[in-house]
Amino acid sequence: MDRFDCDSSLDISTMPLWNDPNCLKVRIILQHAIQHKTYENVDMPEGALDLIRMYLFSFPPLIAAEVQKNFPSVTNKQVHNAWVQLSADFWKMDEDQIISAKMLLVKLKDQADAWEFDVPEGVQAIGWGLKGIAERLREQVVEVALDATCECSLQFLNFYWIISSQHESR
Ligand SMILES: [Zn+2]
Repeated sequence: MDRFDCDSSLDISTMPLWNDPNCLKVRIILQHAIQHKTYENVDMPEGALDLIRMYLFSFPPLIAAEVQKNFPSVTNKQVHNAWVQLSADFWKMDEDQIISAKMLLVKLKDQADAWEFDVPEGVQAIGWGLKGIAERLREQVVEVALDATCECSLQFLNFYWIISSQHESR
């Protein structure tokens, strides 16, 4: 949003009337020195939020395109932020990322295996495997690779993942 050095101020003061102390005299001074481009309401329209809720499990750029068909002033970034907040209801169990992830793994135990690790003191680790993927790869994996990224979270947790590949059966 643009900001303007327009010397604007609003000053409201009250004072009891001298002849009737139960009544207040209210004085309002509104000042605005230059005429500039007017502000527009950049709040997310409720209808746009409804669309995001409807397409919550879709890909954010696709959701943004859908929202902008009906609400052209809504930006991609607004859609992304709203999508992050709305989708958090499904996965965010706690403010602490590790606790949250562990709680989510318990909740989704039918879909994911939680793995336990022996780790040195001061190290926290959680691991999981997705049963749906493992089941499809059973006895077909030809290659397994390990990859990692660091400082990918607010708590500077490192993230490692194992990727396996399979060849199409001929
Ligand atoms: Zn102004």
